[in-house]
Amino acid sequence: MKDSAQAVVIGGGVVGASVLYHLAKSGWSDVLLLEKSELTSGSTWHAAGGMHTFNGEANISRLQKYTIDLYREIEARSGQSCGLHPNGGLMLAATPGELDSLKLICSRARYLGMETEMISLKEALEFNPLIDPQYFIGALWRADGGHCDPSGTTQAYAKAARTLGATLERFTRVTALNARRDGSWDVITDKGTVHAEHVVNCAGLWAREVGHLVGIELPVLAMEHHYLITEDLPEIAGRAKEIVNTTDYLGEIYMRQERRGCLIGTYEPHGIVWSPVKTPDDFAMQLLPEDFERLAPYFEVGFKHFPALGRVGIRKAVNGPFTFAPDGNPLVGPVRGLRNYWVACAVMAGFSQGGGIGLVLSRWMTEGDPGQDILSMDVARYGAFATPKYTSIKVPENYARRFRLAYPNEELPAARPLRRSPIYQRLKDAGAVMGANFGLENALWFAPPGVTPSETPTYRRSEAFAHVKAECQAVRRAVGIYETTNYGKYEVSGRGARAWLDRVFASRIPKPGRLALAPMLNPGGRIVGDLSIACLGEERFLIVGSGFAEEFHLRWFSSSDPPADVQVRSVASSLCGFSIAGPRARELLQPLVRLDLSATAFKLFGVRETAVGLAPVILTRAGFTGELGYELWSTPDYFETLYDELLSAGEPFGLAHFGGRALSSLRLEKGYGSFNKDFRPDYTPAETGLERFIDFTKPAFTGREAALSERTSGPRRRFVVMEIADADTEVIGYESIMKDGAAVGYVTSGAFGHCIGKSLAAGYVPAAMARDGARFEIDIFGEMRTAAVHLQARYDPQGARLRS
Ligand SMILES: Cc1cc2nc3c(=O)[nH]c(=O)nc-3n(C[C@H](O)[C@H](O)[C@H](O)COP(=O)(O)OP(=O)(O)OC[C@H]3O[C@@H](n4cnc5c(N)ncnc54)[C@H](O)[C@@H]3O)c2cc1C
Repeated sequence: MKDSAQAVVIGGGVVGASVLYHLAKSGWSDVLLLEKSELTSGSTWHAAGGMHTFNGEANISRLQKYTIDLYREIEARSGQSCGLHPNGGLMLAATPGELDSLKLICSRARYLGMETEMISLKEALEFNPLIDPQYFIGALWRADGGHCDPSGTTQAYAKAARTLGATLERFTRVTALNARRDGSWDVITDKGTVHAEHVVNCAGLWAREVGHLVGIELPVLAMEHHYLITEDLPEIAGRAKEIVNTTDYLGEIYMRQERRGCLIGTYEPHGIVWSPVKTPDDFAMQLLPEDFERLAPYFEVGFKHFPALGRVGIRKAVNGPFTFAPDGNPLVGPVRGLRNYWVACAVMAGFSQGGGIGLVLSRWMTEGDPGQDILSMDVARYGAFATPKYTSIKVPENYARRFRLAYPNEELPAARPLRRSPIYQRLKDAGAVMGANFGLENALWFAPPGVTPSETPTYRRSEAFAHVKAECQAVRRAVGIYETTNYGKYEVSGRGARAWLDRVFASRIPKPGRLALAPMLNPGGRIVGDLSIACLGEERFLIVGSGFAEEFHLRWFSSSDPPADVQVRSVASSLCGFSIAGPRARELLQPLVRLDLSATAFKLFGVRETAVGLAPVILTRAGFTGELGYELWSTPDYFETLYDELLSAGEPFGLAHFGGRALSSLRLEKGYGSFNKDFRPDYTPAETGLERFIDFTKPAFTGREAALSERTSGPRRRFVVMEIADADTEVIGYESIMKDGAAVGYVTSGAFGHCIGKSLAAGYVPAAMARDGARFEIDIFGEMRTAAVHLQARYDPQGARLRS
């Protein structure tokens, strides 16, 4: 075995093999894969090999398409067959909600360039005559996908990697990882030590244990999973075409032809965690005991929906373990605090996702950037809240829901409440319906007295609609209170703080007593953050951004090398916040502070440390509603007292609680985009409109050259807010925006603008088409609706209320 390599990939399942191939293809030929047993001996060898492009996140869908298309390339390069059956797939709907979800997939697929269409059940029977149509009301056909041979595919990656100079060592177990001072690693194995610049944890079923080698606890856990292969079916005899992969949401079943019989698998509601504490070292090429008794009721449903399967015997049963993260998406990327340590694990759909993961991870390692937005599979979407117990509760929840619809207004209940602000129970008592963001409970909307604080999961308008409207109107007409504790908060301090911030952020860094809106770019000039910086003193700054991105931003800050005289720390749990917004906000607040809050004395983006009633507070004049507004930050010990004082001061003005739903409506009426939804690392300052907050007079900041060059060339596309005609429901996200029958862009977020009485959709369209009044069409659940661009905010376009 060689004793050094540029990168060591730990694990020879389909994911490790793909990472190895992509690293070698990127030009890193000195790469070595270490596998403790045979290739594929973890969860890969017994997979059903199904592959498809379906994912709720457009970027992951795109990577899944890349994965499937890649198989021809690795076959050609390696001479090894992947055993492809690229015959597409069917998805069956049994309820109106499921039908909506299929229509949404169709609308999204156009821009993604995927061949997908709604078909009748009669047409579905041509692809799969075994369906009993009485249980279903609609079907979707996708040309992409099919199935492959798991071992052949992994071997094809491995052989293709070898042709590019990569090496693989089987029967070589990594037993320890020792970091050197220069950031490189000594990889200790049972066959000797390899010195590597980078290591990648692709250890699948053992990813948790390989994480332990460097002291981290990855939120990953294995579940048992069963599928059956039937005896030959007479219905298949003589058929020219194979029966395609069919997903039955109602039955939580997938099935397809396997030789002259069928393969049928189920994601049962009470799944079994496999090896909850430690994965056995000696588990290799093994299956688990079958548990027919437990699974019989679920397979029975399959035999009812596909009756021919129940009429023949079972040739083979497979029960194998594979891993999941709490939300079912993979964990990919570098881990904060560890140099040159990467993960690509918790990959639930290795044959749909393995290629795409290899692609983005290899770019990240070799070029310093994944090359596209992958927030939804970034390991940094989890923070300290994702403890082993959290993972052990959330993973089974996700498994049980694998084939259930994820409604956009649905909040999953497991492991909640986890993080609670000091006023959690008070908000609940006020009728709050809660969501969870980065483990922290936050109010989505408030049920008035007499209304049950719960919501039916739906793609359409829910019973919350009228109550969110009342919240929006209260903010626009009088004043509202919104808890902002769930924002990401960081303190940056020290002698070198201003100079470091100047380098990391593209914006001007404000003077003491002022706040600035502050985009943060990567070297390629793409948006990695849309934050605000409040200067509390020459050497002390409070930075506020998206709560879900806390770990992502902390990793970004630490990779931006703060010098010794700069301290950066999260204050997520040590500062709680409120937003007070509305025309009467000043009247409410003034009696509680000694500070003169008049428009000339405390202007928009002013910052003060002051007392608000009994509580010491950081007070800023800022907000996200477009109204006169203030944000107040206090430590948790004062927070409830502050809340009490605000409530009683607000009573004469009709102070109303408002939640995240109302905020989404209010911000879209103002044309404000939001990080994660509208602004992500795919977009540039000129595309998003954040260019106006960039200080190009600064001689240097990350992303400056790229942003400058885009300034000269102009953006390719633009973020716009559109008004939807005759809408009876709102867009969800990623629907295609159509012009003359062609998909020219896609939606990033939507909401009903309750104070303008219009349904709004935000998204990106080609720059040349982004004209005021330009008309597009959006397929909203199968209905083509006209969408008209409004370049100016639909509400208070001059910002008079904001500055009042
Ligand atoms: C019954 C079943 C059906 C499935 N069906 C499908 C399907 O239809 N489609 C689909 O896409 N996916 C399917 N999957 C999931 C699929 O199997 C996984 O997504 C995939 O195998 C994950 O691959 P991996 O490389 O991440 O992990 P693994 O295959 O577990 O590979 C990890 C490798 O790392 C090695 N390793 C671990 N620790 C060390 C160490 N210390 N030193 C050296 N080597 C080490 C292990 O030996 C192992 O070979 C199915 C899974 C099961 C169980």
